[in-house]
Amino acid sequence: MFIGAIGCEPLQLARVQLERSESLETYQKHGGYESLRKVLDGMSPDDVIGELKKSALRGRGGAGFPTGMKWSFVPKDSPKPKYVVCNADESEPGTFKDRYIMERDPHMLIEGMLIAAYALGSKTCYIYTRGEYRYIIEIMDRAIAEARAAGLVGEKILGKDFACEVYTHSGAGAYICGEETALLNSLEGLRGHPRMKPPFPAVAGLYGCPTVVNNVETLTAVPDIIRMGGEAYQKLGTEKSGGTKLWSVSGHVNRPGVYELPMGYADMEKFIMEDCQGIPNGRKLKAVIPGGSSVYIMPASDIEGKNVTMDYEGLVAAGSMVGSGGFIVMDDTVDIFESTKNLTEFYKHESCGWCTPCREGTDWLVKVFKRIARGEGKPDDAQLLLDLCDNIEGKSFCPLGDAASWPIQSAIKKFPEDFRRHLAPLAGGNGHKSLSTL
Ligand code: SF4
Repeated sequence: MFIGAIGCEPLQLARVQLERSESLETYQKHGGYESLRKVLDGMSPDDVIGELKKSALRGRGGAGFPTGMKWSFVPKDSPKPKYVVCNADESEPGTFKDRYIMERDPHMLIEGMLIAAYALGSKTCYIYTRGEYRYIIEIMDRAIAEARAAGLVGEKILGKDFACEVYTHSGAGAYICGEETALLNSLEGLRGHPRMKPPFPAVAGLYGCPTVVNNVETLTAVPDIIRMGGEAYQKLGTEKSGGTKLWSVSGHVNRPGVYELPMGYADMEKFIMEDCQGIPNGRKLKAVIPGGSSVYIMPASDIEGKNVTMDYEGLVAAGSMVGSGGFIVMDDTVDIFESTKNLTEFYKHESCGWCTPCREGTDWLVKVFKRIARGEGKPDDAQLLLDLCDNIEGKSFCPLGDAASWPIQSAIKKFPEDFRRHLAPLAGGNGHKSLSTL
């Protein structure tokens, strides 16, 4: 497995391969907590938020919302406590880079959270991990204890008039708790159902107080932004997508791993064929899901010779999204009908059941997929799948409904032959009308 940067100096992966990389000693030996010192020595909260804005850092959890702008939404004059919450739920299929950061460089996350807390006037940070990451909680708790013993967490941090506590909290393993408002409910001890927005967490989040929720990769970018300055960080990427991005690469490539690339890296075909060392066993590239399972699937024909740049704008122009950066590569042995059925079963299982379109719709989708797989598909089943998606997408309470619909819509549109193959035997050669119209 490859761990490293291509096309830039490593930032977030700079220390992960060092001996005892998780220790405070190693972190400090390589510049750790110097950004926090810089902030406490002479930057105002507005200065910090200003650097974040200049950096063009966009939230790495999936939505890509500008981080500096999100921080600036927290009302400064609110008398309520303010909270910084790290979304370490990382449940998106194909995504495993946050886990790697927390395992190997936990102090980078603590430092990023402390800087965020200073900028937002918060004294309390929570790291919320998915239930399966219990061993990571142990790593994070050890790092927090080390930081506390060194005067980096708790009262009078670095001898300054700044106090902040950092706590870990484990979820129970529900995918929906990666959605920020469901995460906040879970953190409060409630069932992990999403909340209505607005109000957004920046105004009314944890316990009804102003809260910033950012994911691990976003918060761990903060120490480097403060160290090098927002402008320099932005220049590593593009005008609208600053800095570097982590991609967790899996599937049919010779060199899977966690790759750090500058935003706007050109191009995706080169990345797969050269950096990831191509497709095993001489097979051909068939498809890529570039941003975790909740984004549109890309056929090879949308990648090869198309100079697709790997950033928010480039991937949207190419018909998909950056999402979580879970980069899943599929060769020409993959049946896209089967892989889409598998993903749909995942979404049905993870639907929290709160709203009807998603709860009933994902169950119905799975029933249709299963009967097609049994060879009992009906002539219009592909169209039925699309109609069901149409009744879920944009009509569900939270983004999980969209996330369940998009892979199916794009799979039927881009790979009709894989669906036709499953429907054709029953349809007697003329029953797949719905597919011929796609
Ligand atoms: Fe729950 Fe799905 Fe509705 Fe989201 S869209 S609230 S996951 S039932």
